[in-house]
Amino acid sequence: MSVIYDKSVPGRRGVRLPRSDVPGHTAIPEPYRRRSALNLCELSELDVVRHFTALSRKNFGVDTGFYPLGSCTMKYNPKFTEKIAQLDGFSSLHPLLPQLRRGGMLTQGALAVLYELESMLCEICGMDAFTLHPMAGAHGELTGMMIIAAYHHDKENNKTEVLIPDESHGTNPSSAAIAGYSTRPVPTNRKTGVLDLEALKDMIGDQTAAVMLTNPNTLGIFNAQIREIADLAHKHDALLYYDGANLNAILGKFRPGDGDFDVVHVNLHKTFGTPHGGGGPGAGPVGVKKHLVDFLPISRVVKRSDGTHALDYDYPKSIGYIAPFYGNFSVCLKAYAYILNLGAEGLSQVAENAVLNANYAMHCLKDDFEVPCLRTCMHEFVISASRQAENGIRALDIAKALIDRGFHPPTVYFPLIVKESMMVEPTETESKETLDAFVGAMKDIARQSRESSESFAGAPQSTPVGRLDETRAARQMDFAYALSGA
Ligand SMILES: *Cc1c(COP(=O)(O)O)cnc(C)c1O
Repeated sequence: MSVIYDKSVPGRRGVRLPRSDVPGHTAIPEPYRRRSALNLCELSELDVVRHFTALSRKNFGVDTGFYPLGSCTMKYNPKFTEKIAQLDGFSSLHPLLPQLRRGGMLTQGALAVLYELESMLCEICGMDAFTLHPMAGAHGELTGMMIIAAYHHDKENNKTEVLIPDESHGTNPSSAAIAGYSTRPVPTNRKTGVLDLEALKDMIGDQTAAVMLTNPNTLGIFNAQIREIADLAHKHDALLYYDGANLNAILGKFRPGDGDFDVVHVNLHKTFGTPHGGGGPGAGPVGVKKHLVDFLPISRVVKRSDGTHALDYDYPKSIGYIAPFYGNFSVCLKAYAYILNLGAEGLSQVAENAVLNANYAMHCLKDDFEVPCLRTCMHEFVISASRQAENGIRALDIAKALIDRGFHPPTVYFPLIVKESMMVEPTETESKETLDAFVGAMKDIARQSRESSESFAGAPQSTPVGRLDETRAARQMDFAYALSGA
């Protein structure tokens, strides 16, 4: 594969600039002219189109193939939500349009979307109020932790620590730390696959500001002891935080608010109709119970007695601004359209399909791969390549071999508590045919690892760049080095 500069031929043209028709036009005065050539590549239009089209076809995305990246819900997102987000009445709105005085009517539709989305999320999650400002899941966590810190500050509680299970997403301890807390990992019970309640009892105390949980957790297991954990936390005036980045397992089935969670964040770009990856826009709305409403960030959307909507900034205990304007409005708009389109019944079916797909794939793979926690899973499951590792084939080798078979690998080496872990999330949008093809590829890889372990060394072979030294590639972003395949 060559870069576009390699294709440059001196004198070749893709465009010709017209002669200047500005009357009295003179050339740029001598002192301001370049002394050296620009070093642009010289190509025909066709060369350029072919180059970039070829590059785009090397990309792997959820629009091109199965993408079972556990803990990331890389599902297919419907395209109608993109169309709605592009509607002129929404996409042309200026964020500084007045919402109260003259011109206020122009923003009423957008404010109504925000207001109604907040109440839909309240209903879905069982919370009392939501903010749509946070612009990512991790940003939502930070917002949630800042709200928790403001609550304790307001009550003059002296809290120093946040307890987080050892299988949690890495953003959890980071967010708690940025909000000013030290963090301690709570061990997972290896048999049940959920947090060890006895260990939590030993660790929790008056210094505990919050317990941050993901339920179902990153092993894909639902923790049914949630009420006991909540009682334990609340006894010490610690708050219970729910990481709802991947809500697809519980939609319409379980509401974090009903499980006595005080704060929850959800990822609209995982669960609610916005594709994610590549650093694109996201949204991590945060929901809270009544006792935390005063601390939500400003602005807040309110509905006035005459039925119109407005932004309200008058919340003296608020943690303040956490995002410019109203967060990522287009992401909120897509979530709004997605929720309305599916309705309550459709959302429950999302959960049923997500859970069914994950259990189906797990059971198809359980004879070929170690399943550290073979219980009914939720939207995802974790297998281990420990059996294959005895033949020298590690999770990373299996991931690379999957690429050659046309599949994006699952998340590997996370959660950290499982050796050679591979975390698979099929998602609710995949068909049985796709799942069977993936299972077939995994079984084929398991067979290959028994028969000829050397054959893995060269994988992936179907990609322009082969196996890299991944640590070096991340630290030294040298594209030429990557292309040489060294
Ligand atoms: C993705 C994810 C996050 C972080 O969300 P970002 O939008 O990537 O910041 C947090 N927790 C869990 C469980 C996740 O899967």
